Amino acid sequence: MDFQLSDDQRALQETARRFAEDKLLAEARRIEQTGEPVSQEMTKEFAEMGFLGINIPTQYGGLGLNHLDAVVVLEELAKTSIAAAWPVFEASFGPTLAIAHMGNDQLKREVLPRVCSGELMVAISMSEPEAGTALTDLKTKAENLGDELLINGQKRWSSGAGHANGYVVYVRMSDAPGAAGIGAVFVEKDVSGFTFGKPEQHMGFGGVPSADMFFDDVRVPAHHMLIGAGGFKHLMDAFDLERCGNTTMSLAIAQSAFDYVVAYVQDRQQFGKSLVDFQAVQLHLAEMKMRIDASRLLLYRAVTNAQSGLPSIGDASVAKCFANEMVREVTGKAMQLMGGYGYSREYPMEQKMRDAWGWGIAGGSIDIQKVNIASSLVGRRFNQRAK
Ligand SMILES: Cc1cc2nc3c(=O)[nH]c(=O)nc-3n(C[C@H](O)[C@H](O)[C@H](O)COP(=O)(O)OP(=O)(O)OC[C@H]3O[C@@H](n4cnc5c(N)ncnc54)[C@H](O)[C@@H]3O)c2cc1C
Repeated sequence: MDFQLSDDQRALQETARRFAEDKLLAEARRIEQTGEPVSQEMTKEFAEMGFLGINIPTQYGGLGLNHLDAVVVLEELAKTSIAAAWPVFEASFGPTLAIAHMGNDQLKREVLPRVCSGELMVAISMSEPEAGTALTDLKTKAENLGDELLINGQKRWSSGAGHANGYVVYVRMSDAPGAAGIGAVFVEKDVSGFTFGKPEQHMGFGGVPSADMFFDDVRVPAHHMLIGAGGFKHLMDAFDLERCGNTTMSLAIAQSAFDYVVAYVQDRQQFGKSLVDFQAVQLHLAEMKMRIDASRLLLYRAVTNAQSGLPSIGDASVAKCFANEMVREVTGKAMQLMGGYGYSREYPMEQKMRDAWGWGIAGGSIDIQKVNIASSLVGRRFNQRAK
């Protein structure tokens, strides 16, 4: 067991850190001020750096590195803001990886090189108005017509909706009830019958658009079927990797909040001395540091155990759940330690706190992760449905 990053990983981390400071910080500020998503120019720069294909196989235009390499890069980039790093999150941990793991070869050849080159960003679309935690209640349907799939239904909360130009959409593909009828299809944004509702206003996640999505007799080629009815478990297995991306985003927010506040409490004077000289402040810093380090170790364990495959539901859920609670606590403490300045929009902490909160809802709520953890402990799923 080795708790050190390799020399190559440290070099990658340094490259990402310099890129974030030199280029991405200004873009992050622009996004937060305007609410607009990351620019296409920045996405192209990500591509030139190789950041959009870190853990995608080389045969599809990626770097063919492992998930830990992608974690290391994403953390550095997302310290500027989650919205600025969004294309890298989607390319390294989003549905792109589900396509890489279970897509047919034609679909992989069609999608993955375009993701790596920055031409295509793929979002995930699972939730519906009546199907959130109870995802297996989803109603959006894809009918197999032989050479085409016909999609009808409505989706909600897809991060990137309207901005992303590709979507992995969870659909009902047979009349079998619950999970048994569920599969997934890939849909490009510009197909006929695919439209978006009004933009949602979230508390945080500025620059990560969200909107309802409507499918009215949308037709896609048959090879856009990612997985057919009965594939729900495989989709969830792939989603455990997305949960590691969620964990990385939480960690990045927490680490950047911590770095900021450690400098702040050394600088800010009250009662004739720095805030850091008060023991109560020291205790808060120590608690934040312990939680951040523990979170990083859980994340590294999940992706290292996964190698280039998929993490276990137990590892991924423990890492995500811990990070989601940790980032709320750390940003809350950091804001408190900054007093009125923490609460002011002139300073970066309130944005970090707003962004922090969403990760414990996105990708499955904190409480349902805890159910997953208990489930992996005893080796069986618990029935959530009324009987
Ligand atoms: C910032 C953000 C980004 C998102 N991005 C995406 C995306 O890209 N794609 C996508 O498809 N969806 C996305 N979502 C939607 C997200 O996956 C759902 O909001 C989430 O699964 C919860 O569903 P819900 O909102 O319908 O809440 P509900 O299902 O109504 O649950 C509300 C609360 O009830 C509790 N609860 C419900 N059921 C149980 C249970 N069985 N056991 C214990 N507690 C339970 C939990 O505390 C839960 O938080 C995003 C959401 C947010 C906030």
